Amino acid sequence: MAQLLDGRSLAKVVNAETKQRVAALTDRHITPGIAVIMVGDDPASMIYTRNKEKKARQLGIKSVLKHYPIEIDQASLMNEIAALNNDDSIDAIMIQKPLPKQLNETELIDAIDPAKDADGFHPLNVGKLFDNQTGPYPVSCTPRGIMRILRHYQIPLSGARAVVIGRSILVGKPIAALLTNADATVTLTNRHTKDLKKLTREADILVVAAGITHLIDQADVKPGATVIDVGMHRLDNGKLTGDVDFDDVEPVAGHITPVPGGVGPMTIASLMAQTVDLAEWRRNG
Ligand code: ADP
Repeated sequence: MAQLLDGRSLAKVVNAETKQRVAALTDRHITPGIAVIMVGDDPASMIYTRNKEKKARQLGIKSVLKHYPIEIDQASLMNEIAALNNDDSIDAIMIQKPLPKQLNETELIDAIDPAKDADGFHPLNVGKLFDNQTGPYPVSCTPRGIMRILRHYQIPLSGARAVVIGRSILVGKPIAALLTNADATVTLTNRHTKDLKKLTREADILVVAAGITHLIDQADVKPGATVIDVGMHRLDNGKLTGDVDFDDVEPVAGHITPVPGGVGPMTIASLMAQTVDLAEWRRNG
């Protein structure tokens, strides 16, 4: 029986810390502010965005939704980002995906002030992460949440063999960098990887972010391994599940994140904590 890595409970701890840090800033007459840029009316994005706004408000963070019509052009959105960069009440800026095809996402992310980069996607911040600079600088929120889980449950990282499935800039690449910086030996895999399951069976730490329902089952996991499931899928019966077949893997794993209640709640808690980091860094100069 694995020990459950309870992201829901840990997120409450992180959010309580964030709330206290916001109160300390408010005492100095500073209210941390996050701006969420959303283009069009994608229903999933609307839900995510609303959840972020609600959480921000609960913690005392000012949240501004910048909602633009689906047909907005690149130049107009670049101007909007420039305005947010110059707005002293805004500490953190994030762009909600997906974006319509006429927009150049790379150029938009590059335009965000790296000191207001809520998601840690700006190339300057990504570069600092890969350079293992001491910081401070923001990092992608899902990997940040995963590292907090690993630290909280005292999972040994130095010398551990870690396998990461999926190489997105959102999850796979930054978690590989963070684990490498923490002295783990990391194998970063993708859809072309040969003998993937041979690699996963050797992992002390297995991070699964491929976006494939139940890609990993018991036979793919080394007994006692720590299994981190970043996937989120809705089954036909309405239940949520991950990239890992939890019921199958849980008896052999040492530690495992559930879906829901694992990585998900830590991602939004990390975004809020990072917003307050950015406010502190910028205001403390
Ligand atoms: P996420 O946002 O969770 O990282 P994405 O959908 O952006 O997910 O990316 C999925 C990643 O998973 C890609 O990097 C892709 O190469 C990788 N991937 C997809 N299928 C497999 C597979 N069978 N084995 C290993 N990696 C895979």
